[in-house]
Parts: sequence; C-alpha cells; structure tokens
Amino acid sequence: MQDLIRQLLAELGEDPTREGLLRTPTRVAKSLAFLTSGYAADIDDVLNDALFTVDYNEMVIVKDIDFYSLCEHHLLPFFGKCHVAYIPKTRVIGLSKIPRLVDVFARRLQIQERMTNQIAETIREKIDPLGVAVVCEGTHLCMSMRGVEKQNSFAVTSAMLGAFRTNARTRIEFLELIKLRSVVPSYSDTPAAMACVAED
Ligand SMILES: [Zn+2]
Repeated sequence: MQDLIRQLLAELGEDPTREGLLRTPTRVAKSLAFLTSGYAADIDDVLNDALFTVDYNEMVIVKDIDFYSLCEHHLLPFFGKCHVAYIPKTRVIGLSKIPRLVDVFARRLQIQERMTNQIAETIREKIDPLGVAVVCEGTHLCMSMRGVEKQNSFAVTSAMLGAFRTNARTRIEFLELIKLRSVVPSYSDTPAAMACVAED
C-alpha cells in the first residue's frame, strides 16, 4: 500500500521524497488499515460474551453513539451520531457492545444508508427482538468540502424493523427519546435522501 500512496502523491503533483512527506505513505497505510478494520472484525467475537437471556421487554435505547466512516464514492469521511433502540423478546445485548457494533460497520467503505441497515439487521439476526430502530445523522465531507450540494451535507437515515415499523406509537416514542421528531416526522418506505452525490 505504501508504494501506491507514494505513487498517488507524485500523481497529485507532489514530491514524495521531500521531508514532510517521507513518512506519509507509512502513516496513511496505517490509518487506512484502522479506518477499514471493520472488514476483519468478527461480529460474533464482538458480541458473543454479551448476549443475555432476560425477562424484560421494554425499549432499550442507546443514543448519541459517535461514528466515523468513509464514503465509498469519494473515500472521504462522513461522521456523526447513531441512535439504536430495540425491544427484547427473550435476549438482550450488553449495552457497551452496541457502540462496538456501530464501529464494526462504520470502519469500512460505506454509504450511510447501508451502514444504518446493517446495524439494524445484525441486531435482529443476533437476538431476534420484537423490533429494532436505528437512526444515523451524518455530515459528509465529500459534499461540504467540495462545495457541492451543501444543503444536503447533513443526512439522516433510518432503519425500522418489527414493532418500530408496524407500530406508530413505538416509533414516535423512540423518535421523541432521541429528539429527532422534527427531522423524521414519520417513517415511510420511501428511501432517505441520498447521503452522498455518487455521480460527482
Ligand atoms: Zn461521497
């Protein structure tokens, strides 16, 4: 990877041998490996010691989880907050594992819509709850830095499964708890605004 980055620097018009850039290929390779470490993460390793059987079926909510990801169209960061809720049927996930789960999917080349769905689907798959809701709010540098579609550089995406999809009260309770009601007045099956302008 370091050779490719050296080549990229030259391609950009830089001199990869100047002092300030000498160690850049090493740093970039290391940082990219970290930012995409979600590919190598094993979901079961992340969750396995933290799935518990309980007699509890009230909404579990973890809000304001920070996420940092890379847009797959431009390899530029998008980042923000993720809010996760579920209603257990028989099993729960240790609360500290939910942000870890978000990291597993954020640390890949992503689009925000898919990341949101993957988090929700994984929770459904692992504990089969009565419902799962995930809302992500992200700022996309591929739009704000490049000066295109600035008004949409903040994107909200949601995935509502089970009770959150079928029961409006449950959904509204969740949206009230994360105080996003004005942004997401009601969930519909129409897809969210594209989080990133892939054509550019
Ligand atoms: Zn992008």
